Amino acid sequence: IAIRKPSLGSAAAAFLAKRHKLLIDGEWVDARSGKTFAVEDPATEEKIAEVPAGDKADIDLAVAAARRAFETGPWSRISPAERSRLVWRLGDLLEQHADEFAELEALDNGKPVTNARQGDVQGSIDMFRYMAGWATRLNGETIPVSSAGNWHAYTLREPVGVVGQIIPWNFPLMMAAWKLAPALASGCTIVLKPAEQTPLSALRFGQLIQEAGFPAGVVNIVTGFGETAGAALAEHPDVDKVAFTGSTEVGKIIVRAAAGNLKRVSLELGGKSPAIVFPDADLDLAIAGTADAIFYNQGQCCTAGSRLFAHKSIYDRVVAGVSEAAGKLKVGHGLDPSVNLGPLVSKEQHQRVTGFLQSGREEGAEVVTGGSIIGNQGYFVEPTVLAQTNRDMRVVREEIFGPVVCVQSYDDDDLDAVARFANDTEYGLQASVWTRNLKVAHMMARKIRAGTICINTHNYGDPAWPFGGYKQSGWGREMGKEVMEHYTETKAVAARL
Ligand code: ADP
Repeated sequence: IAIRKPSLGSAAAAFLAKRHKLLIDGEWVDARSGKTFAVEDPATEEKIAEVPAGDKADIDLAVAAARRAFETGPWSRISPAERSRLVWRLGDLLEQHADEFAELEALDNGKPVTNARQGDVQGSIDMFRYMAGWATRLNGETIPVSSAGNWHAYTLREPVGVVGQIIPWNFPLMMAAWKLAPALASGCTIVLKPAEQTPLSALRFGQLIQEAGFPAGVVNIVTGFGETAGAALAEHPDVDKVAFTGSTEVGKIIVRAAAGNLKRVSLELGGKSPAIVFPDADLDLAIAGTADAIFYNQGQCCTAGSRLFAHKSIYDRVVAGVSEAAGKLKVGHGLDPSVNLGPLVSKEQHQRVTGFLQSGREEGAEVVTGGSIIGNQGYFVEPTVLAQTNRDMRVVREEIFGPVVCVQSYDDDDLDAVARFANDTEYGLQASVWTRNLKVAHMMARKIRAGTICINTHNYGDPAWPFGGYKQSGWGREMGKEVMEHYTETKAVAARL
C-alpha cells in the first residue's frame, strides 16, 4: 500500500516548526550539552522534529528546580483549593487544544487520530478533572490510641516531595497525564522524562502548564534517552519517588537505581493478558471485543489481550471471526481519520514484532491471517492471528507489543482449570472474561491473578478505576484513590495532653 500523509492542522504545524527546548525552572532551555536528536514519523520514516538530548546535567538542574519549588517556592504555600483549580485548568486547556494534541499524537506515535482524540486526549482531560478533586480530599484521621492518659493522636497526609516520572511511547500524552495529575493534586513537584520515540505532546503540554499558571519549577520536562536522562533521574539522590511505566526489563533497572536513596517506586510494566471466551458468550460481542483487545493501538497496549482462549465448542468461530475483523481494519497513516491501524512506533519495534512472527512460525503456530510486514516504507505490520498455539511457545510467553494474537482452545468446564491457563504467565495486568453467566464472570474475576479484570470488555480504563499489576506487571496502582497513596506520605502525630 502507498502511505499518504495527510496535512496537519495549522496549530500542530506551528508547534512542529518551533525550536524545541527543555522546560526547567519555568524556562525553555537547550540541553547543557547542546545535543539534540531527531523525532520521526513512523508511517513515513521522515524526520519531523529535533528535540534536546537532555542528560545527567539537565536532570540535575531540573531536580534542583523541583526541590526549590517544593521547599521554598509559592507552590509550598499554595492552598489545596488553588491546587485543585490549577489541575482542573489543565483539563480545560487540553480540551481547548484537543484536536491539535490528537494530531501530534498521531504523527509522533503513528496511532489513528480518531483513537487519539477519543482515547488519549479525552482520557487525559478526564484524568485532570478527576484528580483535581483529590487535591481537597487528602485528609488524615484522628486515632483513638490505647496509651494510658490523655492523648490526641492524628495523621497528616503530606506530598511525597520531588517526583521523577519516566513514561513510555505507547500513549505519550495520556501516560504524562496519569503521572502528572495525581502528583500535582497532592502537591508534589515533578521532573518528567518522556520516551525518546514520542516527546512532542509532552513538550506542547509544557506550554499549557505555563499557561495554566503553575509556578516555575513545579513541572520540569527533560527529553532524552533512557540510558542517560532516564537513568540519571531514577538514581538521583534528591528525588523522593520515581514513577515508571514501561517494560518489565527496564522496571527492574529502575528498582536497582532507586535503591541508592531508597526512593519510593511505583511501576506499571508489561503484560500478556488473557481474554477468555466461554461457550455461552455473546459471540458477536466477544469477537469484536477480543479483536479490539489486541489490535487497538497496533497492539501496543500493556493490557493488550494477546492470549485468546476460546472454548473448543466455539474455537473455530472465534478464530474465523477475529481473523475477519483483522482483515477489515483499514491500514494507513495515523493522521487519516478513516484509518484504524497505523504503523508501529519505531524501527526497533518493527524488528521486534517481525522477529516474533518468525519465531511463531518456527515453533509451529498456524498463521490464519496476517504474519507479514506491509510495504517498504514506515513500520507497518499486518494484524495477525496465530492459531494452534501453546504455552511453550515464545509468542505465548513473551510480550510482543504488536497486533499479534495467539489463540488457544480449551475444553475444560472447571473454572479452576480455566483460571490456571489464564494465570500461566509471569504477568498479571489485565484479563477479560466473555460470558453471559454472572456466576462464571465473577468467580473468574476472583480466580485470575491480575490487577484489573474486565467482564465483556477489554482495555478498560477510567480515572476512578485503580489500574496496575500483580506479579511482574508492576508495583502499586495508578488512578482511583489508590494512586494518592504513592504521592503522599502519612505522618502520625501524638500529643500528650
Ligand atoms: P520500550 O522497551 O517499550 O521502549 P522502555 O521500558 O525501554 O520501553 O521505555 C520506557 C521509558 O523508560 C522511556 O522513557 C525510556 O527512555 C526509559 N528508559 C529506558 N531505559 C532506561 C533506563 N536504563 N533507566 C531509566 N529509564 C529508562
